[in-house]
Amino acid sequence: MKTNITGRFAPSPTGRMHLGNVMCALISWLDAKSQGGRWLLRIEDIDTQRCRRDYALQLMDDLQWLGLPWDGDVVWQSERNDIYQKHLDYLTGLGLTYYCKCTRNDLMASSAPHEADGRIVYPGTCRDKGFTEGALRIRVPEELEKTHGDFIVRRRDGAWAYQLAVVIDDALMGITRVVRGRDLLTSVPQQEFLYDVFGFRKPVFMHHPLLCNMAGQRLCKRDKSMDLGILRKKYLPEEIIGYLAYKTGLIKEYEALGAAELLNAFSWSRIPDEDIMINGECLPASVGQSSGNPSS
Ligand SMILES: [Zn+2]
Repeated sequence: MKTNITGRFAPSPTGRMHLGNVMCALISWLDAKSQGGRWLLRIEDIDTQRCRRDYALQLMDDLQWLGLPWDGDVVWQSERNDIYQKHLDYLTGLGLTYYCKCTRNDLMASSAPHEADGRIVYPGTCRDKGFTEGALRIRVPEELEKTHGDFIVRRRDGAWAYQLAVVIDDALMGITRVVRGRDLLTSVPQQEFLYDVFGFRKPVFMHHPLLCNMAGQRLCKRDKSMDLGILRKKYLPEEIIGYLAYKTGLIKEYEALGAAELLNAFSWSRIPDEDIMINGECLPASVGQSSGNPSS
């Protein structure tokens, strides 16, 4: 099928994938593949303190095991310093960047948290100070000042900021569909601003709900019972995929099936808006209950 639809999965290799990461991969894979598109894998390993290559290799093995193969070569952010530098130089050439020496404590003291979600919005303290070292921030246009503030493009320790790297990579990789968790919804305006500054064509951004434990907290790498190291010992890949398909509303009753069998069923209209609660115990209990009780 001829199409330029291109999706991607862009995990940080800071630990074993958990069920929430698998759901993100699955939805993104289905989104691209159901439209006859390509699905690329990018390893977001610019944070060398937290990322490890063996985690990345394990993650690739997990994707293969789950039946979510990617297309083409894997892109490693840690190998793209020259590309990020070139783009940062471009921003600097436009006079859009400046050094900021504020510490976290300075920011807590001088900034009002954003009304809606408590994010700290940088008040522009160092905008006109003319510092020659520190973190590099980008001047945002007026409409973003109150909601997002000038944001960091390169950290004080020299590491590339997520927002900068993700926009450059998605654009240069030809990504047309960015599918990710709702926790990243607030970064859309910042990223769209960078797309405009660089003159890149914007992708479509799609945000899916997050998986939460019964306490309502989103799953994270600390929820060990939901990580693939444990799940792979207990379940078949089809059981995990089927469970996620059921929890995301893609199928009405639980059954074990492969990702490719969901291509026809995939539709964003079936995926709920609210976060998805899952039982912290393992899959069969909830799977067994739900398949025995059609009213649930
Ligand atoms: Zn500052």
